[in-house]
Amino acid sequence: MKTIGLIGGMSWESSAVYYELINLKVRELLGGFHSAKIVMVSVDFAEIETLQHKNDWDGLNNKMINAALQLQNANSDIIVLCTNTMHLCSEEIKKNISIPFLHIAEATGLEIKKHNISKVGLLGTKFTMEKDFYKEIINNLGIEVIIPDEKDRDIVHQIIYEELVHGKFLESSKNTYKKIIKDLEMNGAEGVILGCTEIPLLIKQNDVDIPIFNTTKIHAESAVELAI
Ligand code: GLU
Repeated sequence: MKTIGLIGGMSWESSAVYYELINLKVRELLGGFHSAKIVMVSVDFAEIETLQHKNDWDGLNNKMINAALQLQNANSDIIVLCTNTMHLCSEEIKKNISIPFLHIAEATGLEIKKHNISKVGLLGTKFTMEKDFYKEIINNLGIEVIIPDEKDRDIVHQIIYEELVHGKFLESSKNTYKKIIKDLEMNGAEGVILGCTEIPLLIKQNDVDIPIFNTTKIHAESAVELAI
C-alpha cells in the first residue's frame, strides 16, 4: 500500500472526513486490521483565508508548494489536496514535486462520466464557481458545467466561509442550498457537483432530486484506489 499525503486544514472540518473516508475505503477493500498509510500536513486556515480574500495567489502557491514538499519529504507517494478551491494552485504544486498529484476535479469528472451526465451544476466557493481552473477540467471530459447566478453565488460563498468551515450546519442554509440546486436543475443540470469539501456535511443525496457528486468522497476514494 502506498502512503497518501494529505494537505489539510482547509478546513479541518472536511479534512477529518477525508481521514475517515480513506480508512473506511481501505477497510472495505482490504478488510482485517488494515488501515490507510497517511501523512498529513494541516495548515492554519486563517492564513489561507486572508490570502484568498486578498487575492494573493502567489502567497497561496508558496504555502501549497511548501506543504506538498513537506509531504514528499515525509515519503508520501501521492499528494491529495483536501479542498477544491486551493486546486487553483495545482499547476504550481505539480511543477515543484516529483510524485503524483491527484486532482479533485479530474476524479470528479471521471465519476460524472460514469453516470452518462452531459450537463452538471457546480456549487463551491466563488473562486471555484467563477474561475476557469475547475470547470475547464470537467468541460474537457465533454460535460457542460452551469453555475448559479451572481446573487446565489454570493450566498453559497458566504455560507461556506461564515458557517460551514466553522462547523455550523443550519437548517436555513440547507434550505437555501436546496433551492439553489433546484434552480440549477430547472436550468437543465442533471446532477450537481458539491464542489466544496464542506458542502457534503450540509447537503445529502436525499435532500435533492438529482444525483449529487460529493467531491470529498470521490477524491478520498480515488486516493485509496491509487494507493492500493
Ligand atoms: N473546503 C472548501 C473547498 O473545497 C473551501 C475552503 C477553501 O477555501 O479551501 O473549496
